[in-house]
Amino acid sequence: RAKARGRATYQFFEPSLAETAYADLVLEAELAQGLTRNEFELFFQPQVEATTGQLSGAEALLRWRHPQRGLLSPDSFIFVAERHRLMLALGEWVLREAALTARRWREQGLTQGHGPMRIAVNLSRMQFHLDGFADTVKRVLDESHAKGQWLELELTERMLIDDIEHAPTTLAQLRALGLTVSVDDFGTGYTSLAHLTELPLDKLKIDQGFVARLPDDVGAQAITRAIVQMAVGLGLTVTAEGVRTAAQWQLLAGWGCQQFQGELVGSPMPAAEFEAWVRAR
Ligand code: C2E
Ligand code: MG
Ligand code: MG
Ligand code: MG
Repeated sequence: RAKARGRATYQFFEPSLAETAYADLVLEAELAQGLTRNEFELFFQPQVEATTGQLSGAEALLRWRHPQRGLLSPDSFIFVAERHRLMLALGEWVLREAALTARRWREQGLTQGHGPMRIAVNLSRMQFHLDGFADTVKRVLDESHAKGQWLELELTERMLIDDIEHAPTTLAQLRALGLTVSVDDFGTGYTSLAHLTELPLDKLKIDQGFVARLPDDVGAQAITRAIVQMAVGLGLTVTAEGVRTAAQWQLLAGWGCQQFQGELVGSPMPAAEFEAWVRAR
């Protein structure tokens, strides 16, 4: 009797995606299939200069158009890809897609009259920690007929600290290729800015958790102001992410924050929509 009921019972209690080892395996297989079936896509979110409002670039944000589950955000699948080394293939796809897009924008004249219009690519720790990562980037750039100057790489504090021995060399190699290097979600890790001064970096992105608590939260104000002022003092460009209100913009700009990204400027958009958005400006 229990056996007869087994299937229905299982479906009723079916755990959510990736909660079990089995679901994890299914997702892994689907991810691999998704890569070969071209189900991944990059959305682009604009970044603008505080003083001029000029478009300076866009962050590439990965999406998965899953045949059954619809459009998926990276937080729902990246952790599985990371567990299974699939992230290396997926990460290389992202890099190549960003390089090809950057080239297409130049060929179409889309970038004319704007800032450097770099495409910022998020890296996973697995990619960055792999020996010869800079060689991979160079190969992808060459194969895409793209220049390092067209791309920016976003790393987290954690990734830098976990690899403090090799990070300086890798970062120097990437910058020698012309890439801009930025630290994402700054303020959430364990890094002190002193640590970061020893690394060849270009930019800090203030975590949107702090920005969300502005303008009213006094604690967030103190932390954010300190980060912006120290980073600027160290010669780093500061970008605020998740900026949603004019009040947040004004406060941050007053402290010296140079670039803004967030709903106030524009949400992440599919490539065609982003291109239309740029042309309409
Ligand atoms: P992130 O790099 O910190 O990206 C910013 C996230 O905040 C994005 O979420 C973006 O859509 C969202 N966001 C931006 N502005 C606003 C705003 O004003 N309000 C709100 N509520 N949200 C805003 P998304 O696209 O879901 O990406 C989540 C995370 O997934 C990213 O955080 C990044 O860590 C990771 N990720 C995205 N694409 C890739 C990728 O290609 N490779 C890797 N390894 N990680 C990626
Ligand atoms: Mg990012
Ligand atoms: Mg971020
Ligand atoms: Mg994040």
